[in-house]
Amino acid sequence: MFDVERVREDFPILSSEVHGRPLVYFDNSATSQKPRCVIEAVTDLYTNHNSNIHRGVHELSGRCSAAYEDARSKVRGFINAPRDEEVIFTRGTTESINLVAQSFASAYLERGDEVIVTDMEHHSNIVPWQMACERSGASLRSMPFDDDGNLETHLLEEMLNPRTRMVAVSHVSNVLGTVNPVKDIASLAHEHDVPLLVDAAQSAPHMKVDVQDIDCDFLAFSGHKVHAETGIGVLYGKSEWLEDMPPYQGGGGMVGIVKMGGTTYAEPPLKFEAGTPNYVGAVSLSAALDYIASLGMENVAKHEAVLTEHMLESLAGFEGLTLYGNAPLRCPVFSFNLDGIHHYDAGQILDKMGIAVRTGTHCAEPLMDHYGITGNVRASLAMYNTVEEIDILAEGLRKVQGLFA
Ligand code: PMP
Repeated sequence: MFDVERVREDFPILSSEVHGRPLVYFDNSATSQKPRCVIEAVTDLYTNHNSNIHRGVHELSGRCSAAYEDARSKVRGFINAPRDEEVIFTRGTTESINLVAQSFASAYLERGDEVIVTDMEHHSNIVPWQMACERSGASLRSMPFDDDGNLETHLLEEMLNPRTRMVAVSHVSNVLGTVNPVKDIASLAHEHDVPLLVDAAQSAPHMKVDVQDIDCDFLAFSGHKVHAETGIGVLYGKSEWLEDMPPYQGGGGMVGIVKMGGTTYAEPPLKFEAGTPNYVGAVSLSAALDYIASLGMENVAKHEAVLTEHMLESLAGFEGLTLYGNAPLRCPVFSFNLDGIHHYDAGQILDKMGIAVRTGTHCAEPLMDHYGITGNVRASLAMYNTVEEIDILAEGLRKVQGLFA
């Protein structure tokens, strides 16, 4: 069903060499590689159709406008949102969360209110909330996790109270790979009439994400992590919130009537899409989602489960290696340290072998504080990675240890 060698042929960069060695690309949580069909969709748009959208009467503008709105429908299908109007295009996960933190917070967050995040969040699901709390006089609370990387969700019941205005949680940790129980969190939050925002940056590339099944109020993800271009992202929001929330930015495209005495706003989603949107990015996202659909997300997930099992077997028996996170439900993201070897040194030596991993805090400093470390090495896999590449990494890690012995 899923032929990984054929899939690899769709990604031109995967046949390249780095430092004279075949590229082993294990930095997919940072950004994933692009299949030829995505690259070609962008080239085709610029070669044959390019024009700004929503403002022109001419043929090219009509084509690009239609392609942009088609992309919105495709995203709706990808996350099973009830309505196209609930899909807002943004620059990425970061902008999607900032949009909610600014717009939602300016309408609903007051002095004494509370927002709940978790200790395993990416900075982009912490800092916008800190800023919103600073502006409003609200306070930020955080749900801890255990050493295996499981959220202590039993504590959420005690944390939720009449002053809680928002719960914001990552679907999948970008460091530990943990798949968080967002559906349970949504129902707990809703029992207290509190909305849930899900950061799906690391789940969208690996599993079926269904906003109706989760019953989240907001969900954010980035195009560049699901094999589309950079600079395009998505915010899903339930209509009842989007209609009530004030605009995030002002400018062209988000207005009804503009007079010097005052302005009326367009309906969602356009209310939240001020200025020329990234219609080229949206077209690339559309092509990427078609590509994933052609493989079947279930087949991608099955292949990645095999990779996960192999990686865990490989790392579990590895002497002198500490693996962070051991959640029962996980995506193929693995972070670790080698005893006595700085993560940065390990990463640099692996790079010389053509193996691309990421080192540092991965924009998750509170998570690093939990383990009392300054950073680690992260190998994050995608649908086109192979069992052989995992063996190359293991061999590379043994060489790193040898050099420091
Ligand atoms: N949340 C998580 C869990 C992430 O992994 C990332 C990207 N590393 C982001 C948010 C931010 O995504 P972007 O930089 O594409 O806005």
